[in-house]
Amino acid sequence: MSNSELSNRALAALPGGVSHELRYRAPHPIYVERAAGAEKWDAEGRRYIDFKMGSASQMLGHGHPAVVEALQRQAARAIFSADCHEAEIEWAEWVNRLFPCAERTRFTASGSEATMLAIRLGRAWSGRDKVLRADGHYHGWHDHTLKGAKAGSLQAASLGVPDAVTGLIEVCAADPLAMQAALQDNSIGTVIIEASGANYGSVPLPVETLRALHDTARAAGAVLIFDEIITGLRWSPGGRQARDDIVPDLTTLAKVATGGLPGGAVCGRAEIMELMNNSAARDGLSPPVSHKGTFNGSPLIAAAACAAMPLLATGEAQAQADAMAERLRDGLNALMARHGIAGCAYGESSTCHLLFGAADPAGLNPVEIRSVPPVLVAGLRGGLLARGVDLMSHTSCVTSAAHTPELIDEALDAFDAVFAALVQDGVLQ
Ligand code: PMP
Repeated sequence: MSNSELSNRALAALPGGVSHELRYRAPHPIYVERAAGAEKWDAEGRRYIDFKMGSASQMLGHGHPAVVEALQRQAARAIFSADCHEAEIEWAEWVNRLFPCAERTRFTASGSEATMLAIRLGRAWSGRDKVLRADGHYHGWHDHTLKGAKAGSLQAASLGVPDAVTGLIEVCAADPLAMQAALQDNSIGTVIIEASGANYGSVPLPVETLRALHDTARAAGAVLIFDEIITGLRWSPGGRQARDDIVPDLTTLAKVATGGLPGGAVCGRAEIMELMNNSAARDGLSPPVSHKGTFNGSPLIAAAACAAMPLLATGEAQAQADAMAERLRDGLNALMARHGIAGCAYGESSTCHLLFGAADPAGLNPVEIRSVPPVLVAGLRGGLLARGVDLMSHTSCVTSAAHTPELIDEALDAFDAVFAALVQDGVLQ
């Protein structure tokens, strides 16, 4: 079936034809049948160089043999019995070794569940219901994370989120003075920050700013959560906190940390994490913080994660992905200069973000950075897709250890053609 035939079928079976609203595309999405390394193929047999990489989860590349072999071996032994098993211990030990804040780790079934649990722990430990978050940072789709997810807006980005919940969420700029002012409100007990800066670093968060935010939250006595769902095992094996030596109380993980399979984790200080210990009791509750979830720490995911961890712990995979992102950024900056396009490619680690109309994101606010005209986003992404290149989201890319200089250069040829077309059509100048 063609992509458009599959889309027609999907529209009658799935709301909007999709299982995740960001997979929606007009006139229709591509339907991917196979992925290997840094490439993937759709239902029409068309090949794409992939800069989405499973929403940044496939750090080792699609279908890494060690991960595939571990999954096959585990599937033959037991897919899921909902019991304790040794691999979940080994997996938690990896996390506890790699992440400086991690004295204990608890697994969840998704990244959103990890932020939900971390926020519950922050509230339970601090005894305060209010949570402070940074404008535009993304922490998943549940009720407690939607206010402030869209930069510059205080409206929860969905109907169905009770005002009683959004009333407990305060939003401030990712700026130490703004955070300090917000924390004057003594009812705030928890602070959550995307460790990269908003949207995997499309709004950069310089190291001295992150350090000052950490110090400010600490000084106010709030439980500080770093959301390292993107940065964990990507910015460095121990995430941004290990790379820059800025250690929060709690950390949320998913994507790379779960072997590129569905799942998530919260790790952090033992005294907070032990609120989930069944032998602890507080206020008549034992354990004081409840956490369940049928598929938490499932053996299949644990097997994949334990197979991936030794490959991710050395830093070599990250170094390769970083080098390829740098090659992509350098190539894009050269292309933009050659086409006379005002803008730049930037980003930390294995990310690459495109900014149009300004030479540097520093000094711009999140709304300015994120407000790319829809016609430009659609033209860029649609043009690249037609030439066999898929971006992660918006105007951003991630690379993996499977990207090669040849693939980056081939992708740059596609960008070259798309930039030329967008300039010719007057969409870019
Ligand atoms: N936090 C961050 C920083 C993320 O990037 C994501 C996913 N893109 C989430 C939370 C939510 O994770 P999930 O999609 O697994 O629920």
